[in-house]
Amino acid sequence: MIDPKLQALIQSVVDCADGTGCDDDLTVTSSAAVAALAAYMESDSQAEYVAHGGSECPHCHGEDVDYDGNVRLYGDKCHHDCKCLTCQKTWTEIYTLTGYEGE
Ligand SMILES: [Zn+2]
Repeated sequence: MIDPKLQALIQSVVDCADGTGCDDDLTVTSSAAVAALAAYMESDSQAEYVAHGGSECPHCHGEDVDYDGNVRLYGDKCHHDCKCLTCQKTWTEIYTLTGYEGE
């Protein structure tokens, strides 16, 4: 059961992100709320990254991204290192197995 105060806080942030309503006096004081918000923002950022097809930096949204072209396979996932030429941050794209070609 989620803390009702936390629920309300998350909802106000979601409303704010959606542009449906925003509390300018919103302050985050509970560490649990901070963690929940961080998780929410993270999942939002992940979805946004995938929606863009990985073509922009997840940190500064710059489109000048250097892909090293070296894809590594770990189990059923592939890792692909990327670097933003604008903010110099690095991250790893994760690709999952979706099927096969050939007979
Ligand atoms: Zn960047």
